[in-house]
Amino acid sequence: MQEINKLWNIVLEKLELSVSNVSFVMWFKPLKVVDMANDTLVLSTKSTFAKNQILKNYFDKLKSATGDVFGENIDIEILDPQEEAQYIAKNKPTKTALDVEANKNPFNPKYTFNNYVVGKCNQTAYAAARAVAENPGKNFNPLFIYGGVGLGKTHLLHAIGNYIRSASPNLKIKYVTCEQFTNDYIESLGSTSKAKTYSEFRDKYRSCDVLMVDDIQFISKKTSTQEEFFNTFNDLHQYGKQIIISSDRPPKEIETLEERLRSRFTMGLIQDLQSPDFETRVAILRKKCQIEKYSITDKALSYIADKIDSNVRELEGMLSKVCFLSNLVGKTTADLADVKEAFNDKYEERNEGGANTEQIISAVCEYFDISRSDIVGKKKSKEIVEPRMIAIYMISEMLELPLVTIGKIFGGRDHTTIMHARDKITDEIKHNRKTQTFVSEIKKMLTSG
Ligand code: ADP
Ligand code: MG
Repeated sequence: MQEINKLWNIVLEKLELSVSNVSFVMWFKPLKVVDMANDTLVLSTKSTFAKNQILKNYFDKLKSATGDVFGENIDIEILDPQEEAQYIAKNKPTKTALDVEANKNPFNPKYTFNNYVVGKCNQTAYAAARAVAENPGKNFNPLFIYGGVGLGKTHLLHAIGNYIRSASPNLKIKYVTCEQFTNDYIESLGSTSKAKTYSEFRDKYRSCDVLMVDDIQFISKKTSTQEEFFNTFNDLHQYGKQIIISSDRPPKEIETLEERLRSRFTMGLIQDLQSPDFETRVAILRKKCQIEKYSITDKALSYIADKIDSNVRELEGMLSKVCFLSNLVGKTTADLADVKEAFNDKYEERNEGGANTEQIISAVCEYFDISRSDIVGKKKSKEIVEPRMIAIYMISEMLELPLVTIGKIFGGRDHTTIMHARDKITDEIKHNRKTQTFVSEIKKMLTSG
């Protein structure tokens, strides 16, 4: 299986060269090898939608790259998540090399210090995390990092983990969420051979050089887990082992936290993460584009950073949604239109003059003396088609609405039809005086009233 994954990586490299970056990141990169049996390479996708997209638009590319590497007579089967589950249940393939790798390293390789954007909001927490990573057990012990949802606590913990793993591979690092710690503990008590498993639990947690517990706030209601964590903490701390804790609030605000544990948490350094300011948000988005190989215009990027101002996870989520939508309509660079589509504020958009889609449509209708139902309808006579194209052009130019959205306004037309209309009028304005006059007179109608 390891060998097959290696070959698969070569297929991916080939595909990366033959399709756009966004298509690659969106459709090919997420594919995983599930199995290779009877001359069929079985791949899994992240959704049925992705599966259909690949089958519809990219199968030839996939087939030819796979053929180059695995040989011409290899078949490909693509499974969506449900089919994958059924396939695995039926065939129980051996673990892939990737699974083994994932078990070995609990840290997300993308969550590094390099990928962490530093701004006013997080610079002290970042510096403290680095200091701890460089000299575990020597600087701040424990290091307690707190901040709201999606502000980068888990990222920082993983960054420390990744750093220590490569700088001091001999150190034993244990990273758990509070939930995992609690479950582990409860399980160790519930077992029939109680003594053995509890001692296993103790070994696991007390033999490490660095212990990280993410989202410790969940310990608040669990008295016996608090007790156990208190003992673990003391044991490790006494031997100079590093402890790193994250929480969504400072120790004094974690209700029902035992006083002795609260005071332990304040022994080292407590650092908070604040919401990033605009510049930091833009920098985070740029970083994300670099990592995920997204291409997006500056204007579009600033728009996202302006609208989402507190949660970095949401910021990233919006960015990938935008690039996804943009890729769907075949663009290589996402622009403001895609952002607006993603934010879904389609119909309220106003340009500087204050016109919206409906006002533009009614101005065009009034100017040419045709009805709204005709302009958005199916009629193909010249008297209707030209005004329709002018309206499409003006909406696209003045409001920068996505083509797909404009298509919906005009009776569900395809985005290529809209693009054609827009380009035709753009071209005519350059060469045809009559069209120029139409557009400028309609614009005048809009601004005067
Ligand atoms: P938390 O654990 O605080 O809820 P995460 O660490 O899971 O938040 O962060 C949410 C997402 O935001 C992650 O994908 C993370 O990489 C990203 N992120 C947060 N802060 C930063 C930052 N300063 N620079 C780059 N990415 C960040
Ligand atoms: Mg987290």
